[in-house]
Amino acid sequence: MHRIWGDAVIIRFETVTKRYPNGHVALEDVSLTIPRGEFVFVVGPSGAGKSSLIRLLYHEEVPTSGEVYVDQFRLGRLRRRQVPRLRRLLGVVFQDVRLLPDRNVYQNVAFAMQVVEASPRDIKKRVPQVLDLVGLHDRSHHFPHQLSGGEQQRVGLARALVNNPHYLLADEPTGNLDPETAEGIVKLLAEINRRGATVVMATHARDIVNRMNRRVLAMEGGRLVRDEARGRYGLDTPERPAWLSTVSHEA
Ligand code: ADP
Repeated sequence: MHRIWGDAVIIRFETVTKRYPNGHVALEDVSLTIPRGEFVFVVGPSGAGKSSLIRLLYHEEVPTSGEVYVDQFRLGRLRRRQVPRLRRLLGVVFQDVRLLPDRNVYQNVAFAMQVVEASPRDIKKRVPQVLDLVGLHDRSHHFPHQLSGGEQQRVGLARALVNNPHYLLADEPTGNLDPETAEGIVKLLAEINRRGATVVMATHARDIVNRMNRRVLAMEGGRLVRDEARGRYGLDTPERPAWLSTVSHEA
């Protein structure tokens, strides 16, 4: 198989605690390793620490104690000039897509290449490829307000992918989408993973997690409470239908 993302190495958290200046502890003593090429869901209730985990990975935040590694980068000790090199390894998508409203689809994606000073020739070649991958080739000249929520998220994905990141970090990327559209986005993430990118997706989307049958890291109150290779979004959660709790597991 042709791997367009090259040889990424690893994500590693070593006893990471993140305490915000207001005293909130978002992560407590979290250790985990995500090898190259994995597709990992990070699940858990609101406030569990999922976004903080993702923000540490792209150096939006630094750990209070412990260490986060992404490939050769030690994120607690990153020098300022190393930040662009780290960020080049990473593509990030959010629930809220944040497209530039006065630029069309093509320009929004091309912009991500311009900021890393890619050549106009490479931009012209690469942007149509990535728009093709996300199924938006025929929307190149549309502006964000002319797109559906799912299409906007596809542009967000194209923008995250256009510089060939080793890692794709997605924080609730389907949070604003209906289930069918959400499924389409996750299928795309799976395809991107198949092509070699490591994918870390924080999500509440129980159905999707259970159907995908991938590794699940479950967070609760800042702690990693479960790490399963082919996990499910736990049944023992508050959203579990009340009648289920009366069913005997021995049955
Ligand atoms: P999740 O993504 O699972 O909802 P977060 O990582 O956003 O969890 O939040 C974890 C905890 O950290 C929550 O208690 C939240 O209120 C707190 N928190 C998150 N971001 C900040 C911040 N910038 N400043 C202070 N507290 C924060």
